[in-house]
Amino acid sequence: MAESIGINVTQSNEPLPAGVKLPIYMDNHATTPLDPRVLEAMMPYLTGIFGNAASRNHSFGWEAESAVEKAREQIAKLIGATAKEIIFTSGATESNNLAIKGIAEMYRERGNHIITQVTEHKAVLDTCKRLEKSGYRITYLPAQADGLIDIEDLKRAMDDQTILVSIMYANNEIGVIQPIREIGKLCHEKGVLFHTDAVQAVGKIPVNVIADNIDVLSLSGHKIYGPKGVGALYVRRRNPRVQISEQINGGGHERGMRSGTLNVPGIVGLGAACEICQNEMEAEAAREIELRDYLRAKLEKALDYTQVNGNMDHHLPGNLNMSFVYVEGESLLMGINDIAVSSGSACTSATLEPSYVLKALGLGDDVAHSSIRFGLGRFNTKAEVDYVSDKLIDVVSKLRELSPLYEMVKEGIDLSKIEWAAH
Ligand SMILES: *Cc1c(COP(=O)(O)O)cnc(C)c1O
Repeated sequence: MAESIGINVTQSNEPLPAGVKLPIYMDNHATTPLDPRVLEAMMPYLTGIFGNAASRNHSFGWEAESAVEKAREQIAKLIGATAKEIIFTSGATESNNLAIKGIAEMYRERGNHIITQVTEHKAVLDTCKRLEKSGYRITYLPAQADGLIDIEDLKRAMDDQTILVSIMYANNEIGVIQPIREIGKLCHEKGVLFHTDAVQAVGKIPVNVIADNIDVLSLSGHKIYGPKGVGALYVRRRNPRVQISEQINGGGHERGMRSGTLNVPGIVGLGAACEICQNEMEAEAAREIELRDYLRAKLEKALDYTQVNGNMDHHLPGNLNMSFVYVEGESLLMGINDIAVSSGSACTSATLEPSYVLKALGLGDDVAHSSIRFGLGRFNTKAEVDYVSDKLIDVVSKLRELSPLYEMVKEGIDLSKIEWAAH
């Protein structure tokens, strides 16, 4: 811990730069704050307009239904779909479950093989694990060192039993954007359905289900400055018409694919969030790329032995995943505890495990633990990026002064030739 090794990295007597308020939120892949304009759109539906969208015989129901249909249009427009192809869910975890289990069940006669990849979100991986237990065969494609899948691997994995390919649009840890259009094209050539978890891509970069050859797509409200607990699943209706077997039974809402009373305020919020993204995505992406590249350049200029993870040519605007080699990850996070970012470690049970995504790229445990995911978003400012980079440079430098490994590397000792005592 920073305290116990005698340096004080959390306290600073310097006044905060103008416009910076602590703590700073820079973890926009985990969730995003609600845009005030989204809240404004939702408010009437949290108060006076409370009808059940399924009530067909009075104005309370009609009002709610028309708000839901407007949201359906807003979402569809953002991804190049039609309103009828949008199914509301409780979030992307449910969307992923519904897509994968719903297709697996519906197309079971045709085959039992599903292809996904090792760096998917747990909502896809755990769903596939569950299907494996009930007799489905799952292929987990490896990631290349830059985080992208190899299309040749996908081609080789397909066989006459393959019914579904599920590959995420953009990765939530390392920000890489997969070759979605080519994957979709290949799937369509082979008559295999293509699902994509597009939570991190929708609203951030252009997504078009027709041009991208996507059959089923998951998205979530709270990753695009909308409310938590609401999401959607796009289900293609033509060329091909995708069928999905309902996973939650009761009442046959959402064209029989997802029963349950609709979360009207949440859905209105999701729609409003999509419309804002549609209008502002281009400018926002340009601004985030500038901030991100500025952050990266500043860190790289001041610190040696850093490395950027994930292909930067196919990358989300607001993502930067960087390793600060020879720094202990926990001390690093402790030192920047007034900044909300994610580390390359995941708390599973009682121990800190290195991120499975970074491991899949071939990073060693130490390097993975020393990694930070910066998630820049709509409300981050240049002043915040300056504060964050200055603080990191300070903390990493101080920690390295105390790092025997770093000392040895600087003295030119080849660490790989050292025989470490067993421990
Ligand atoms: C956040 C996230 C999810 C889960 O979405 P929820 O709406 O929180 O259930 C799924 N996939 C990816 C890539 C995510 O980033």
